[in-house]
Amino acid sequence: MRWLRNLAIGLVALAVLALAVYGAPYPLFAQHYTHRRFDLWSDRPIDEAGAARVLDDAQRRIARSALDDGRQRFRVFVCNDNWKLALYSGRFQGGMGGVTDVYLTRNIYLREADLSTNRLIPAHPGRAPMSDRPLSYFIAHEATHALEGRALGRLMSLRYPTWMREGYADYVGKAGQFDVAANLAALRAGDRSMDPKASGLYRRYHLAVAYDLDVKHMTVRQMFASRAPEARVLAQLRADPEFGR
Ligand SMILES: [Zn+2]
Repeated sequence: MRWLRNLAIGLVALAVLALAVYGAPYPLFAQHYTHRRFDLWSDRPIDEAGAARVLDDAQRRIARSALDDGRQRFRVFVCNDNWKLALYSGRFQGGMGGVTDVYLTRNIYLREADLSTNRLIPAHPGRAPMSDRPLSYFIAHEATHALEGRALGRLMSLRYPTWMREGYADYVGKAGQFDVAANLAALRAGDRSMDPKASGLYRRYHLAVAYDLDVKHMTVRQMFASRAPEARVLAQLRADPEFGR
């Protein structure tokens, strides 16, 4: 039975190591800056004036969320070294713009960013447009996931559909900078930008959330509680002659 004991010890050691790595990423992010409700860490020197402007704009966006009571603090880690994003995303690849650990810490991890120009450095320049997605949008999008996690529970990724979680994070993150008519026309035309899997964009999800919240006047909690399938909401908004006019 010695092998069983060794296996148990090994598993416990692995779990402790994982908790230490994911629970306390601070040693890998030497630079720290606090502004309002944000704690910002980076593995490169922080332009504090630029960071303050970015975080002020992120706050302006987050304030649109009915899930925000203003009390939650946000911990944001900028991974200029991409392997850190690969590690802390738990996906072992760092191709995403950002990720939030909704299960354990509600820490937000972002890819390489330029605080001075409010810009995220995209993984594939030119593939997905960044003109309507400054760094402050990415922070607000991820912070909305942290708000969702607190309001809906740590297992919300399993309990609620992707279109609601991502669509609502974009609805908040874009702060009203979203052309419903143009996106509806793109959806009708079968444009690639409306396919989240192909484009990496959440415009179709955003459209469905905008329909639930702005046209049907559901509260965000009512929308999540409905757990409606995306296809049903898309069918409704496609059939609504007033939507996007
Ligand atoms: Zn997201």
